[in-house]
Amino acid sequence: MTGEITIALSKGRILEQTLPLLAGIGIEPDPDDLSGRKLILGTNRAGVKLVVVRATDVPTYVSYGAADLGVAGKDVLMEHQGEPLYEPLDLNIARCKLMLAGYAHRPLPTRPRIATKYVNSARAYFAQRGSQVEIIKLYGSMELAPIVGLADAIVDLVDTGNTLRANGLVPLEEIAEISARLVVNRAAMKLKHDAVTALVDGFADLVELAR
Ligand code: AMP
Repeated sequence: MTGEITIALSKGRILEQTLPLLAGIGIEPDPDDLSGRKLILGTNRAGVKLVVVRATDVPTYVSYGAADLGVAGKDVLMEHQGEPLYEPLDLNIARCKLMLAGYAHRPLPTRPRIATKYVNSARAYFAQRGSQVEIIKLYGSMELAPIVGLADAIVDLVDTGNTLRANGLVPLEEIAEISARLVVNRAAMKLKHDAVTALVDGFADLVELAR
């Protein structure tokens, strides 16, 4: 049915900060579904459901059309391989910065080792500066890498800077401003045009109001 709309979200910041926006356009998840461990949440709007997936999987669900729309951090979108997604709106939520961070008084060597989950963004950043780099892919706790000598510096998301400070690190360079974006499946944009456009416009009005 073309009236059915599936929206992919990820647990944590994105879900928490997207729910008020959804409520603002009249979509509320079933409270029982939300409080339990369900991965598919029904809503008060007939034909609209939410799927809760890993943050890094949101672009995949949307690009294959398993979800018509999704909310994903720009950090995740920059790492996503494959066809670029249609990204009509900056939701201006889950804001933070992608930063190069390391020790305050220790200059980086000519070919630094950089520990990060954000391999593509880190590589692109050093390539753009014309610098050599060795990237070490980690899946979490990047701050540990310089402390134990695994890396000279890290590339990670920074919000308050508390995590860096707690581990004796400082921000060195800003790589990108990050916020959550609305992404839309290209086929859904055509085949479910009216329903998708109504949602995108609804979100856009709310984002504008919040500015
Ligand atoms: P903070 O200590 O406030 O600088 O937060 C840094 C930690 O929180 C990092 O390890 C990030 O992985 C995570 N973080 C901060 N902001 C975001 C965000 N907008 N989206 C996802 N993770 C974030």
